[in-house]
Amino acid sequence: MEQVDTLIVGAGASGAVLANRLSADPNHNVLLLEAGPDYLPEQLPPDLANGKQNAMSSHDWGFKHRPTPYMPLIPLPRGKVVGGSSQVNTCIALRGQPLDYDEWGLDGWSWEECLPAFKRLENDLDFGDTEEHSGSGPLPVRRHPQSEWKPWTAGFMEACDMLGFPYCPDTNAAGSTGFGAHAMNKIDERRISAAEAYLTPDVRARENFTLSPLTLVHRLVYEGSRVVGVKAERHGRIETIRAKRVLLCGGAVATPGILVRSGIGPATDVAHIGVKLKKHVPDIGRLLDHPGNALLFKPRGIEVSVDDPIIQCVLQTKVGHGPYTNDLQIQAGNIIPTKWKTFAGVVLMVSLQKPAHVGRIRVVSSDPRVRPHVQSALNSNQPDRDLALRGVELLGELANTKALRKLGRCIYPTRPVLRSRRLLKRWIPTASDSGYHPSGTVPMGSAADVRGRIEGIDGLRVCDASLFPTIPSSNIHIPTLMLAERFAQWLSDDRD
Ligand SMILES: Cc1cc2nc3c(=O)[nH]c(=O)nc-3n(C[C@H](O)[C@H](O)[C@H](O)COP(=O)(O)OP(=O)(O)OC[C@H]3O[C@@H](n4cnc5c(N)ncnc54)[C@H](O)[C@@H]3O)c2cc1C
Repeated sequence: MEQVDTLIVGAGASGAVLANRLSADPNHNVLLLEAGPDYLPEQLPPDLANGKQNAMSSHDWGFKHRPTPYMPLIPLPRGKVVGGSSQVNTCIALRGQPLDYDEWGLDGWSWEECLPAFKRLENDLDFGDTEEHSGSGPLPVRRHPQSEWKPWTAGFMEACDMLGFPYCPDTNAAGSTGFGAHAMNKIDERRISAAEAYLTPDVRARENFTLSPLTLVHRLVYEGSRVVGVKAERHGRIETIRAKRVLLCGGAVATPGILVRSGIGPATDVAHIGVKLKKHVPDIGRLLDHPGNALLFKPRGIEVSVDDPIIQCVLQTKVGHGPYTNDLQIQAGNIIPTKWKTFAGVVLMVSLQKPAHVGRIRVVSSDPRVRPHVQSALNSNQPDRDLALRGVELLGELANTKALRKLGRCIYPTRPVLRSRRLLKRWIPTASDSGYHPSGTVPMGSAADVRGRIEGIDGLRVCDASLFPTIPSSNIHIPTLMLAERFAQWLSDDRD
């Protein structure tokens, strides 16, 4: 069988970027494999097109995680469709802060070196071309103007002002902090996923580019220490697809699964599933995320609709003693979403942006359909617990301002819990959840090098959110696109 030049596993955030950029060279063949289905923009199912809310059930991998030892297994949503999690997410388009990248201390990954790629990916409809922004990239970004804010969001902004936080006109500016409208990648409430932005009809029409949906990659195929392709399942048949190089873009939960099933990972995990060890890499499967807690409110005197946009604005602030500009992200939710149903109610949420916890993903079968065991270990250390407590207390203070008190009454947790530090400390670990930002499962600097290579294995790169050595102090879609833009440049020059 003819071999392709570049085979990309996973058509999510990073896979879409790499497929677009690498197939721009007509002499270079690119094959993009995706386990989920593909839809042309005009045929997208309504939940995938609707940027007002998450789509957590129709195109989901069905992963589960245990957020803390005090909690049962609960859903950890991940998009299974061309576009990946960027096709199901909340459309928040934050970059994080310079220190998030500078602290990696990795060659080529300083903020200054990443900034051109942050600019290259965006078309900022509010700021256009400036030193920090670009008005010509593939992904449109805009902010809800005040006229579009729902009453609960408007009250939240007023509450932030009343508590003395600074107003922030551009949450993506270096050093920005305070409250303001979120940068978001949705237009007229339509989600503009990485697939829609990067896998455009023109890209899809390239003769040197093939997208193969409904194709589940089982594992890598080797010749000696070189990866020469993958074993993948299409229409019920398992076949070997050969390639000069393979890029893993399956996302932070799936990518370590493909590696461990291919004999690369912690030796005990590889042995446990009966696979021959290719390379012992102990750090594969460690897990980072943003732990979060939410207060639920019964609205008072305001109309709330399950069609309202889930989130429009944000407060980024710092309560800890660390070096970070923002260690908390606080948001008002205009609805109450769950994986199964959306409820008419309002929410205040807080998530830790620079937590110290490290969780673990354990691959438990060589069958790619078997879910990995995910222990997120959220708030599993004292500094994180202290920050989470301070964050939830801050939610209570916001809820108690004149601006928000009149709009909603807190129903969860109960008032006695919210008023007692002792009870809150007990409540938080029973009510924490993932910020849906699993990452760092193949960290650069230990499991992989600064270009996504695993020592001793040729012809393979990891190119997705698995690579983050520490988690950025922001949602991670834009950081993942930035990472992929950087790899696209390096891989265009480097044929290995
Ligand atoms: C509900 C939800 C809300 C979120 N909200 C936001 C937000 O508002 N802002 C933000 O910045 N981030 C948000 N995120 C996170 C963000 O979308 C992801 O972190 C980002 O998309 C990760 O990119 P990725 O390329 O690493 O993985 P993904 O985008 O998940 O892409 C991985 C792709 O690989 C495919 N794949 C996996 N395994 C295989 C296999 N074996 N064979 C073939 N294909 C495979 C998957 O189906 C998927 O298409 C959210 C995530 C979720 C789930």
